[in-house]
Amino acid sequence: MENCIFCKIIAGDIPSPRLYEDDKMIVIRDIEPKAKLHYLCIPKTHFALLTEMDADRSEILKHCFTKIAEIKDQLGLQDGYRIIINQGENGGQTVHHLHIHLLGGEKLADF
Ligand code: AMP
Ligand code: ZN
Repeated sequence: MENCIFCKIIAGDIPSPRLYEDDKMIVIRDIEPKAKLHYLCIPKTHFALLTEMDADRSEILKHCFTKIAEIKDQLGLQDGYRIIINQGENGGQTVHHLHIHLLGGEKLADF
């Protein structure tokens, strides 16, 4: 997808070290961390919103959540973490390529 920053990162056009990568997703550090540890899990397939879900995309997200659970220790998230997916204008989404925020590395504030 043209002009999508996460597609450019996935393509390697914008350098961003990958903490994990497979055929369906990458995990990178958020450039503006909102917690001691703040990662983004980004599916390699471009779509913006959970409301655009279909069978293939739901398989991709299932894979992401399964893999996040598998690699949590190597990411330093063994003591727990918060998952956030911002959706659309009111959800505060700024990058319109669906991504999963992983926040942890410390006790997070209630919200
Ligand atoms: P959202 O507001 O849910 O769309 O989240 C987008 C996130 O992407 C924000 O937390 C940004 O800090 C992060 N971000 C934007 N550009 C980059 C980048 N080049 N590398 C890593 N994270 C980025
Ligand atoms: Zn994209």
